[in-house]
Amino acid sequence: MTRLLLLLATVCAVAYGECPNIISKSAWSIKKTGCQTALKSPVPWVIFHHSDTPPCTSKDGCITRARNILDYHTGTQGWCDIGYNFLIGSDGTILEGRGWSKVGAHAKGFNSMSIGICFIGNFQNGLPSEAAINAAKSLIRCGVELKKIKVNYTVKGHKDVTSTSCPGDALYNNLKKWDRFMAKTGTLPYASLLCPGIMIPFLLLLSLSCMVIHGCPTIVTRAQWGGKNPSCRSRLNTPVPNVIIHHTEGAFCSSRSTCSAQVRNIQNYHMKTRGWCDIGYNFLIGEDGLVYEGRGWTSRGAHATSYNPISSGISFIGSFTNRAPNNAALNAARSLIACGVSKNVIRGSYALKGHRNVMSTSCPGNSLYKVIQRWPHFKP
Ligand SMILES: [Zn+2]
Ligand SMILES: [Zn+2]
Repeated sequence: MTRLLLLLATVCAVAYGECPNIISKSAWSIKKTGCQTALKSPVPWVIFHHSDTPPCTSKDGCITRARNILDYHTGTQGWCDIGYNFLIGSDGTILEGRGWSKVGAHAKGFNSMSIGICFIGNFQNGLPSEAAINAAKSLIRCGVELKKIKVNYTVKGHKDVTSTSCPGDALYNNLKKWDRFMAKTGTLPYASLLCPGIMIPFLLLLSLSCMVIHGCPTIVTRAQWGGKNPSCRSRLNTPVPNVIIHHTEGAFCSSRSTCSAQVRNIQNYHMKTRGWCDIGYNFLIGEDGLVYEGRGWTSRGAHATSYNPISSGISFIGSFTNRAPNNAALNAARSLIACGVSKNVIRGSYALKGHRNVMSTSCPGNSLYKVIQRWPHFKP
């Protein structure tokens, strides 16, 4: 059984291979800090906090907030560094605090057995944005993959281990619905990962447990964004060997309502003006950090001619020639690809390409193209 579990964990980790963008501590603060205590990895717990400060909605804004918290923790509190291991802003920006390898100062008595993640803002009455929650989930997946967090980790709120209102009632009630939440000091057994048990065939077990570990980002369905039915549809053979990245080269969007409207516009353009059966892309990504379903995982797209039958086409909403999409959008795309691999609709050994690598076009824009060249699996 142990060997099976190890194998599962390894295969899942290999299948995943993705971590979100994290702004390193040295990139947001040059302040020297003297924390030396190494964190013994992998840790069994992930403990969530809120900063109980105003929120931040841009990379620069979140850096300013993190610097203020750092000053408070090192100055007023007299700690050796910012207390949290990571901080997350409303736009999905992830900032490194003490990181994966140093013991934090966020949950007295439990710092050495946990990673402390702080949502920047006050979440007593309202929730962090979907982009922030997705960023936290993808950070945890990354930690599991890097073996910094145990495969059978549990999620807790600060108030589970000490008398505090942190991380705020609204956020705490949301955490209770997460896959691996466990109040107080318990740890979920391995068996909970593997339900419905060891009797089902190995492959089913494998795919189930990978999904439990890695999850998938929030996908706004066609019905949710108000999509029209396709006028025809052909099946895509899966798992596909390629992922092709595009930009829509139109307006940007950063809220669910504006992104939904933009996706409807693109569908109209593709169906009415271009005369296609449906919106061309398999998925679209907004700078609200959400994934919008296009033709989905199993229908052939219309986005890269000869590559349509052998790829999934993912398009960032906006024009990314002079600037890259925000972190929320980039993380959503990477988490979508990881999700596709875990569902076995994208090959584990997939090649990632920009539209310009397979056709003569400037798509996906110079700035976005620069970003994806650094992603795993990029093959021009
Ligand atoms: Zn806290
Ligand atoms: Zn394109």
